[in-house]
Amino acid sequence: MSEQRVRAAKLDAADELAGLRARFVLDDAVYLDGNSLGALPAAVPGRVDDVVRRQWGELRIRSWSESGWWTAPERIGDRIAPLVGAAAGQIVVGDSTSVNVFKALVGAVRLAGEGRDEILVDATTFPTDGYIAESAARMTGRTLRPVAPSQVPGALGDRTAAVLLNHVDYRTGRLHDLPSLTAAVRAAGAVSVWDLCHSAGALPVGLDEHGVDLAVGCTYKYLNGGPGSPAYLYVRRDLQERFDSPLPGWNSHAEPFGMRRDYEPAPGAVRGRVGTPDILSMLALEAALEVWDGVSVDAVRAKSLALTDFFLECVAAYVPAGRVESLTPDAHAERGSQVALRCADAGRVMARLIERGVVGDFRHPDVLRFGFTPLYVGFGDVERAARVLGEVISSD
Ligand SMILES: *Cc1c(COP(=O)(O)O)cnc(C)c1O
Repeated sequence: MSEQRVRAAKLDAADELAGLRARFVLDDAVYLDGNSLGALPAAVPGRVDDVVRRQWGELRIRSWSESGWWTAPERIGDRIAPLVGAAAGQIVVGDSTSVNVFKALVGAVRLAGEGRDEILVDATTFPTDGYIAESAARMTGRTLRPVAPSQVPGALGDRTAAVLLNHVDYRTGRLHDLPSLTAAVRAAGAVSVWDLCHSAGALPVGLDEHGVDLAVGCTYKYLNGGPGSPAYLYVRRDLQERFDSPLPGWNSHAEPFGMRRDYEPAPGAVRGRVGTPDILSMLALEAALEVWDGVSVDAVRAKSLALTDFFLECVAAYVPAGRVESLTPDAHAERGSQVALRCADAGRVMARLIERGVVGDFRHPDVLRFGFTPLYVGFGDVERAARVLGEVISSD
């Protein structure tokens, strides 16, 4: 038995989160694609069945009040809040991340006020954020300027209205310095908007602690909400009264059933709602979030770093030298919960890995991505993934 296999067994035996695996529906594959679509939590199928058959099938319209459908966006927002370091009453769930990027960014420009004519956007952003930022800039008459996150402090100035950043780079797994970048944006008098898609559920975010203005994120990656589960929008409490959503729907009206001709925004996080919420997906997400009961995000972060460290160590041991190159920073302070390896013929290598029960993904043109979800990935899985990768690459 290899040294790494012995170490994996010891690490698994000492893993205090190992029991959480039982909260998911898993098979024999090593699933390292939870940064794209989290695995199915065991509580979800039964809940969805109840929502469909009883709440919808039997109670029908009564469920908007009796089954708590109407208030689900805020209630589930409050369930996500502790996972991203937010006090209750600041997060609302609904719509896709893309739509929430639009609400947050246009809202941020409006909060910044006239006279600030530039929007900074993460030059390495996930594409949708960039497309929407370009449109938001055009609509609000601002100029869009792409800047690498590390260059943001030098690019800020009196002209900066808003800054849209990804907390973790979806491609490389690099974690950006949210506390210091947020402080720099604030010091320049601009408004910060963070996209937490690849950090929420994987590491502590500390939205309130670090004074983040606005944030968005999806729930189908590390929060395991299921395909297309609704995203969320965070608006810091003291900004809520001034938050002027570019998508004011009847669901964010102060008196939604007043059916009034004039719009008057509701107070609080509800202001981020638009139209009728996607109840089936939303309540599947609510059941999925039960896996977090009693789980500390700090413990998840500690295990996540141990998993990615161990993966890099096993890759170095098993993969012939020079065949892969890690794009993920070695420093813990700069690492999210994934490892990205540059590799020749990455698309074919990933297809071989998947055939052999190691599921990661491929990002064009030459990147193998492996996401580590500490709630259900163990050290034995990590050792097996690296060993199979070594075998696949060596057999070429
Ligand atoms: C996954 C991801 C998205 C996805 O947006 P959708 O609207 O849910 O498709 C957006 N931004 C980032 C940074 C992501 O990683």
